[in-house]
Amino acid sequence: MRVIIAGGGIGGLTLAHGLARSGAEVRVVEAARRQDRLGTGITLLENALRALDRIGLADPIVASGSGWSVVSTRDAAGTVLHDQALPKAYKPGAPPAVGIMRTHLGELLEEHARASGASIAFETTIERVEQRDGAVSVALSDGDSGTYDLLVAADGAYSRTRTQLFGDDRRPVYSGQGVWRYTIPRPADVNGLTLHRTSDGEVVGALPLSEDDCYLFYLENTAEHVHMPPERLGELLRDRLAPFSAPMIRDAVEGMDASRHISFRPIDHVLLPAPWHQGRVVLLGDAAHALTPQLTSGGGMAIEDAVVLCEELDAHEDVEAALEAYGTRRAERVRPIYEHSLAICKAEQDAAIPDEQTVGIMMNGYALLAQPF
Ligand SMILES: Cc1cc2nc3c(=O)[nH]c(=O)nc-3n(C[C@H](O)[C@H](O)[C@H](O)COP(=O)(O)OP(=O)(O)OC[C@H]3O[C@@H](n4cnc5c(N)ncnc54)[C@H](O)[C@@H]3O)c2cc1C
Repeated sequence: MRVIIAGGGIGGLTLAHGLARSGAEVRVVEAARRQDRLGTGITLLENALRALDRIGLADPIVASGSGWSVVSTRDAAGTVLHDQALPKAYKPGAPPAVGIMRTHLGELLEEHARASGASIAFETTIERVEQRDGAVSVALSDGDSGTYDLLVAADGAYSRTRTQLFGDDRRPVYSGQGVWRYTIPRPADVNGLTLHRTSDGEVVGALPLSEDDCYLFYLENTAEHVHMPPERLGELLRDRLAPFSAPMIRDAVEGMDASRHISFRPIDHVLLPAPWHQGRVVLLGDAAHALTPQLTSGGGMAIEDAVVLCEELDAHEDVEAALEAYGTRRAERVRPIYEHSLAICKAEQDAAIPDEQTVGIMMNGYALLAQPF
């Protein structure tokens, strides 16, 4: 089988490894430069690690990240309100979740995809797609062209392929929140997902990424879909963290350092109903479902998609039957997780909703994630 994947992000590279190790000829085209991979961190929960384990990738990723098992909710001053353990691990002795730098995760996925036989071209896009007789022909921006059995669009939340296939009305919509991200030296008391909540619903979270690094995020409720001036990110984040007196957050503000990556982006979300394919073109990851980040699971869903697509292509002789089964299976799995994540996002924008209710939705979300897929 010959497969071309548009997008060398988390979903595209996981799929490239999974398909190539089962003997498919796989080519990945990635629009960005390799050196432009994002410098922030990501958490992979048990379900993502369980999926990665099915294609032999969980252990190397866990070994390169920082395992954790507790969600700690604190007030703005840092007093612990409650600690909750995550339900399970992907195998005995393994952590239920791992934090890792995105750059590092991207390198590992790329290394394994290449070792399995996939080819990966950066700074390349698909310029033209034509479907005919159970095949898909593409013309690439580097002048090359080819015919494949399958084109997988893993080109992210603003997928150009999705727009070409399903039209413009399936674009992501704004959630009412933006997120600030900042990597800091890891404080001694951050041993898991650590959430500081003010009484009016503002949230600063911290996630361990390694022994030395930690990723701080601040969720900002803004009615408008705003962008922040890059040269003022440090100053603006400092202002926003002022209501938080927790020593860990004060230290992060004191030590704010231009060499450490600070970013802000509005949070958009989208979920497509099945089917996720048309003929021999299929969507995967954020291209089909961009989640709000509250359950730290968008990447996990992209990884699950990749593993399930490998399984369905393996199980069916007929490619379109495999794509149908994949879309049905995945849309059913993703919907409740997308909804729980969005419900937390909306609760964080509503001061009348008590913390315990928000934490309850989060724990229900984790229980859903722990189910089979
Ligand atoms: C603030 C925030 C925090 C998050 N935290 C977590 C977390 O802790 N855990 C988690 O699991 N998820 C998290 N997510 C979600 C996660 O980042 C995404 O769900 C995940 O990156 C989706 O993977 P993907 O491969 O589908 O898309 P992407 O990772 O977006 O990759 C798409 C790739 O396609 C490329 N591309 C775009 N257009 C083209 C084109 N035309 N041709 C070729 N290539 C193209 C892009 O350059 C990109 O490399 C978070 C998201 C946000 C916003």
